[in-house]
Amino acid sequence: MTKAAYLLPVVAAALVDADGRVLLQQRPEGRSLAGLWEFPGGKVEPGETPEAALIRELEEELAITVPQACLAPAAFASAPLDDRHLLLLLYITRKWTGVPRALEASALRWVRPADMHDLPMPPADRPLIGLLDALL
Ligand code: C5P
Repeated sequence: MTKAAYLLPVVAAALVDADGRVLLQQRPEGRSLAGLWEFPGGKVEPGETPEAALIRELEEELAITVPQACLAPAAFASAPLDDRHLLLLLYITRKWTGVPRALEASALRWVRPADMHDLPMPPADRPLIGLLDALL
């Protein structure tokens, strides 16, 4: 029997613009999964709700503010990550204040879901493309 992996909760956002494009950020050199394009977000810290973690991550990574009421839970996916198993919770939002800036990523890009298939993305993010395409 395989040993149960430690479950790591990660939250991410699909920020959708007026043209139905979604913001992706490129993971920087020196970090895990460097060069891959991901939905902005990160780990839920102990004691945090998923929504509070996502609001914090979006401020830290993009310098934007998203009201909790504007975060719609949309989908989840999971993938192995080292000795853990990552559980990725994706929220959709169309409203935020501020202009996204790459404070931690090496680049930002607005992409239609149909065009995401051509981009290298982390294993947990990739299964969410088809679902976003159907939702947007
Ligand atoms: O960004 P941070 O290092 O906090 O992310 C925690 C883990 O979640 C990393 O291993 C990262 O690769 C993963 N992650 C992911 N997809 C995202 C955001 C983070 O697989 N959209």
